[in-house]
Amino acid sequence: MSVELIGAVYIVSAILFIYGLKLLSSPATAVRGNQLSALGMLVAIVVTLGSREIIDFRWIGGAATLGALVGAIAARRVAMTGMPEMVALFNGSGGIASLLVGWAALDMGSGEDPSTQTAFTIVTILLSILIGGVTFSGSIVAWGKLAETIPSRAITLPGQQIITLLLLIASIGCGIAMVMQPEAWNATLIYVVVALSLLLGVMAVIPIGGADMPVVISLLNSYSGLAACAAGLAINNTILIVAGSLVGAAGIILTNIMCKAMNRSLSHVLFSGFTATKSATKVEGEVKPIVAEDAYLILEAASSVVMVPGYGMAVAQAQHVVRELGELLEKNGAEVSYAIHPVAGRMPGHMNVLLAEANVPYEQLVEMDDINPRIENIDVAIVIGANDVVNPAAREDENSPIYGMPIINVDYARTVFVLKRSMASGFSGVDNPLFFGQNTRMLFGDAKQSLSSIIAAFKE
Ligand code: NDP
Repeated sequence: MSVELIGAVYIVSAILFIYGLKLLSSPATAVRGNQLSALGMLVAIVVTLGSREIIDFRWIGGAATLGALVGAIAARRVAMTGMPEMVALFNGSGGIASLLVGWAALDMGSGEDPSTQTAFTIVTILLSILIGGVTFSGSIVAWGKLAETIPSRAITLPGQQIITLLLLIASIGCGIAMVMQPEAWNATLIYVVVALSLLLGVMAVIPIGGADMPVVISLLNSYSGLAACAAGLAINNTILIVAGSLVGAAGIILTNIMCKAMNRSLSHVLFSGFTATKSATKVEGEVKPIVAEDAYLILEAASSVVMVPGYGMAVAQAQHVVRELGELLEKNGAEVSYAIHPVAGRMPGHMNVLLAEANVPYEQLVEMDDINPRIENIDVAIVIGANDVVNPAAREDENSPIYGMPIINVDYARTVFVLKRSMASGFSGVDNPLFFGQNTRMLFGDAKQSLSSIIAAFKE
């Protein structure tokens, strides 16, 4: 295949990526955008493999079929609540792929002795290994936190700051040594660099608390793009550089949006775990439970109601009953709205997707900044499986790890119903004083069940 033809096909792939990315910006066109980008990637892979005698096509075909099968089955079987974990694994897979490409480029990619490679190539190889390794192990830790196989709160080890700094210095040291003395390359040194990058990834993500995970996930997404870009430079592959840059830039933009939504600076997210020595004020008080029948009586008399969904609504799959209750309240004369916090749930837009699936009218969705100024005039705020995003400690307790994060001020409403199963804390692991508020009533149980009971009372 001629170089010109490969270049032309790569341009077509790049256009498909860019156009696909643009279509992703609206829910109406997102599916087509995803398909176009996937087509761009398929074209790029086929042309790259077809342009060189890499290995037998039967191996490539077999691996591609196996990969596609695993991806298709995983995507079909994953529950909506499991999507963030899947995204974390995708980021990690991107990272390890770049690490392996960099490593292979070193050993055999160009077929050259490493000592004869240019300083530029060596730097790009090192970057793809380092960033790829950090992305891989960091994503695995993020996956563990999201899946709650490891605690989601910030975990700090004694001397963590020093250890991380030493790891960083050692990685940079190895890199400088390799660039200055390419003849010093040997397998052991590469194992050391790989191990350092993996350790750095763990140490970077483990001290970050649950509430800041949205920023971490989008940052790791950006890293996976940067690692791919470095790998593209290492093996001199244009389309890998383009695809990596797009992912890197999109990830950084998302990270910035997430930081703004959470009123955090990136440095605060990255380093807060290292400096977290204060502990949140202990929350104590009297809890006032309520049963569905009594909740119905209060709702029946309400003229304005705001629903505030959170991760628990996704777990309970309660979006359809939420909409049904909303319709009943409207028929009863109440003004109903649905307040969405930007990081409610476990991924950006999580609540919007679920409520759209249940056909909640788009005009009834309100953003945090629109509901907060008028929440004092709301008769009842119904918190459906939300916790961190309505935690007043973020507003009031300077010692709390979530201090400064904007919340929906449901505690300012005249009455608050909190629908959850227990007194357990949210993803950040921080206690919630809302549950002890004068105007709060706890409706314990699965959110779908509790809402169904209120609906039944309405219908009787
Ligand atoms: P939280 O994780 O803070 O709280 C969810 C609550 O739902 C829990 O306290 C749980 O309490 C309750 N719950 C779980 N299952 C059910 C059920 N079946 N019925 C009723 N309640 C249930 O959720 P929020 O949405 O308030 O906050 C999201 C958190 O996740 C934030 O800390 C955010 O930073 C973080 N995050 C967000 C991401 C994003 O992009 N949106 C990505 C990664 C993390 P109980 O067990 O007692 O029922």
